[in-house]
Amino acid sequence: MTDVQSDPSRRSERDTAETPTYACDDCGRRFYTQDLLVLHRGVAHPSALDEGERDAYREAYAAEERAIRSFRIRALGILVLLYFGFLLLYVFYAS
Ligand SMILES: [Zn+2]
Repeated sequence: MTDVQSDPSRRSERDTAETPTYACDDCGRRFYTQDLLVLHRGVAHPSALDEGERDAYREAYAAEERAIRSFRIRALGILVLLYFGFLLLYVFYAS
């Protein structure tokens, strides 16, 4: 399980096919991508992981954290642009 994609934002269309193909060995739950399975096993079955799976979980967790941080920064940027955009529109059209 070391072939985890390091960046969740680069998941391709093929990874999100109709049928989830990656099944958890412990509970049988199925996932659409390998890194979602790795994240599930790290959260739900941490004691059942071997060293390779633990490393894969750490990598997937860090990649997910980077993706979330990137999303937050972009969302904040869009909110700031909208706020000042509407503020400028108000200044020009209301005065
Ligand atoms: Zn499971």
